[in-house]
Amino acid sequence: MSVFERLESEVRSYARTFPQTFDQAQGSRLTTSEGEVYLDFLAGAGALNYGHNPEPMKKALLAYLERGAIVHGLDLQTEAKAAFLEGFERYILAPRNLSYRLQFCGPTGTNAVEAALKLARKATGRSTVLAFTNGFHGMTLGALAATGNVHHRSVYEPLLQGVQHVPFDGYYGPEIDTLALLERQLSDPSSGLAKPAAVLVETVQGEGGVRPARLSWLQGLSELCERHDILLIVDDIQAGCGRTGTFFSFEAAGIKPAMVTLSKSLSGFGLPLALVLVDPALDVWNPGEHNGTFRGHNLAFVTALAALEAYWKDDRFAQQVRRKGEYALRRLDGMARRAPEALSVRGRGLFLGLVCEGEALASEIRAQAFQRGLMVETCGPEDEVVKCLPPLTIDEGDLKRGFDLLEKAVTAALARVPREAAPASAPQRRAGGMA
Ligand code: PLP
Repeated sequence: MSVFERLESEVRSYARTFPQTFDQAQGSRLTTSEGEVYLDFLAGAGALNYGHNPEPMKKALLAYLERGAIVHGLDLQTEAKAAFLEGFERYILAPRNLSYRLQFCGPTGTNAVEAALKLARKATGRSTVLAFTNGFHGMTLGALAATGNVHHRSVYEPLLQGVQHVPFDGYYGPEIDTLALLERQLSDPSSGLAKPAAVLVETVQGEGGVRPARLSWLQGLSELCERHDILLIVDDIQAGCGRTGTFFSFEAAGIKPAMVTLSKSLSGFGLPLALVLVDPALDVWNPGEHNGTFRGHNLAFVTALAALEAYWKDDRFAQQVRRKGEYALRRLDGMARRAPEALSVRGRGLFLGLVCEGEALASEIRAQAFQRGLMVETCGPEDEVVKCLPPLTIDEGDLKRGFDLLEKAVTAALARVPREAAPASAPQRRAGGMA
């Protein structure tokens, strides 16, 4: 029995799907203790948009540590924080004509969602929040209340009270305009829907199955929020930091949310860092009213700034991401065309999913891919979507290699899994590595 099985909690998850022991990591590749190499299309569930151990960030981090600079500083003023704030303003906010205050909260995504929900309630004096079907916002009780999936919610009721779920874009199929339904409910004093403090939305739902909202729907949602004086909070924890081909996932829709949550790839190095961007008029916190020991970490500020300087000084990196996204979409479309009754493709930028007819096919594709040396994870309400999240910095060779491996995995899985009512097949444990 391994030390993990003997001592680590049953709650572990990725470790079961990918039961290898990893040691080295560089760029888009992971290497096990035995020297087997895996291509990483999971990318830390979106925390490694710039790949593993990216050089510019590693150099900045090592230099910072070498000069004996402050590592932990609560929310004290530090040189590292000042440099990050100025860099974020210069490279991200100013070029996009955005004006936000930056609130550093506890270091993971769910902490940013909690902070945004609390602030929305305080700023508006209202207590309810609207979230969407298939939304995923984290595991703490407030963020969990806004998460749709019963797998995560079931044993924790009652969650934060006052979160109501409304249908996301396309939930009832292409014919039904879900915004019109919402507008009707908000305009009707007899609908039973209280006027909420905020609407919390992912522009591309990640864990919920890689579901992109149409840009027109996002624009409509923003207008609806404005008309009804409701705060629009975009949860850009997974879709942000370049994943959809722009720094913020909402840029293409031209909207300006009242608040934005960021985490995952924000630090640029896989270090925990989370942020709420707040419209200055809504920054009604009293000092220390929402606090925490790890509110912004200096090592993460250093790597986050290095990432902004390396990738976001101009639009070149974003253009590359968009080109890679087009290539990835072509490859996935090619796979889906081979079994159109069982497979289809969804997503935006380099945030793409291969939608399978059921969990059995998706998990078999994942298992077949892992046997061939490719890590891809599944998501969606029934775990029926193979989520492709290569690092945005992946080179063309590894991108092609990854999709070649995925294609082989799809072929093998289609041959193994009987169509419709196929039994779930558990991923197999096998030593392997990239073919
Ligand atoms: N929001 C979104 C959109 C996410 O995808 C996630 C995590 O997958 C979270 C929030 C929660 O982030 P964390 O797991 O860092 O708490």
